[in-house]
Amino acid sequence: MPVPAGSAGAAATYHTGVLVAGGGIAGLSAAVSARQSAAEVILIEKAPPEGRGGNTRFADAQMRFPHEADEFGPRDYTAAGMFDDLMRISRGRANAGLIRTLCDNARDTAEWLTAMGLEWEPGYPHTAGYRRSPKSGGQGLVDLLYRRLEGLGGIVAYETCAIDLIVSGDGSIAGVRARSPEGIVDIYASGGVVLASGGFQANVEMRVRYLGRFADSLILRGSRYNTGEGIRMAIAAGAQPAGQWGDYHSAVLDARSPKIECGVTALYNYQMGIFIDQSGHRFLDEGEDFRDHTYVKFSKFIVEQAGGEAWCLFDQKAYQREEFARAWRPVGPPVEANTLKEMAEKMGLPAENIMDTIANFNAAVQPGDYDLDRLDGKRTIGITPPKSNWALPLDTPPYVAIPVTGGITFTFGGLKCDTLARVIDTRGQVMAGLYAAGEPMGEIFYYNYPGASSVIRGAVYGRIAGRDAAARAV
Ligand SMILES: Cc1cc2nc3c(=O)[nH]c(=O)nc-3n(C[C@H](O)[C@H](O)[C@H](O)COP(=O)(O)OP(=O)(O)OC[C@H]3O[C@@H](n4cnc5c(N)ncnc54)[C@H](O)[C@@H]3O)c2cc1C
Repeated sequence: MPVPAGSAGAAATYHTGVLVAGGGIAGLSAAVSARQSAAEVILIEKAPPEGRGGNTRFADAQMRFPHEADEFGPRDYTAAGMFDDLMRISRGRANAGLIRTLCDNARDTAEWLTAMGLEWEPGYPHTAGYRRSPKSGGQGLVDLLYRRLEGLGGIVAYETCAIDLIVSGDGSIAGVRARSPEGIVDIYASGGVVLASGGFQANVEMRVRYLGRFADSLILRGSRYNTGEGIRMAIAAGAQPAGQWGDYHSAVLDARSPKIECGVTALYNYQMGIFIDQSGHRFLDEGEDFRDHTYVKFSKFIVEQAGGEAWCLFDQKAYQREEFARAWRPVGPPVEANTLKEMAEKMGLPAENIMDTIANFNAAVQPGDYDLDRLDGKRTIGITPPKSNWALPLDTPPYVAIPVTGGITFTFGGLKCDTLARVIDTRGQVMAGLYAAGEPMGEIFYYNYPGASSVIRGAVYGRIAGRDAAARAV
């Protein structure tokens, strides 16, 4: 930012059309769309340039959006089908208006990204074919959008952290106060402020306060900078909290992952094997549904109800599959053993229990066609918990085991918003000049998470917010 004249001791002051706080997918989409609508834009990003991009840069950034059957997936995926998936997985609690808008705009927004130069490839295997993945991953996606924003004349200020909202006498939001390398700055935005500063997953105080004591030690999958300022300052200015404040997104992680910013160290192949707890027993129906619809809740189950750490056990029928490696980026080599007894010793678990567990499991497996691309109904009978799909006996050594735990990706609690991404106050009224996009929005996810929905959520609502704020800018 050019340095303005200012008196010593006073906060430097800037003026723009649209101020965006946060430079992940939501903030970048807001900033680019506001620039495309001819508004002046400043995007402030808390991280230094090498840390920009938030959670988005750590992600593969796979997205679900409606599309016809194509070379990446054999089935049509409709906006109605996407709506049903998102509502079902939230057990009907998601805000239907917000979800409808997300689903209705997802394809157009994906095409908008394509028009900016994003190239796609198929998403993870065995997800019913609706995922698409940017070839360059999340890092490439954010780099592309930063280039695009700067090419359009948008200003990016790094190491600049929004700390408060500037509220006008009429109650509308006039701008943001931020901590920057040049000190405290006040940035006024005639069109509005878009809060795209992520959730509070990197803030241990808020994690424990809203999620519980166990949450202090969760592995943080993504950005260290998402510490909840955007949500907190909006609430302090009168915004209405919304969504499931006591819940969060997670994933079944390799337990050897780094504790912070570990990136994609999740196991997305557990449906090919079985989970074993510290006593040597199974504890989940690994084949309950497509992996995309179970990985978040399974991860939380491991953390909160299975002692924090467990194992995923496979035999060579699974391990040799080409998709096995595509669904797991190893943090270290798996534990391998030729017998279950030897495996139990290596895992440090009671050998008799593991041998019993596998014998009972193998005996319960029913005949049928094994097909990871559909809910194949190839299941167990007579054991608890069952494995409802993709059940094959574990009988082909060497056995392979990976230690697993859960982690935190982002939080579900956020701000009440309408379908234009405008923030709603505690009286139920629109807070003029204040928008939220991406993780700070509440009422999208509850309990569980439909895979590949958060990046597209950020893109859709960021784009909407940027456009609407630009229309208000003078
Ligand atoms: C390892 C991993 C894999 C994932 N895989 C997928 C996937 O394949 N598909 C999917 O849909 N989702 C995935 N997710 C989730 C998804 O990436 C995020 O939820 C989504 O990208 C969030 O976008 P966002 O723009 O809301 O936030 P972010 O991308 O996190 O951006 C927030 C930005 O705000 C900045 N910021 C924070 N506080 C302030 C402040 N006070 N002032 C200014 N700036 C601030 C941060 O530095 C950051 O750059 C994954 C996440 C991780 C970590």
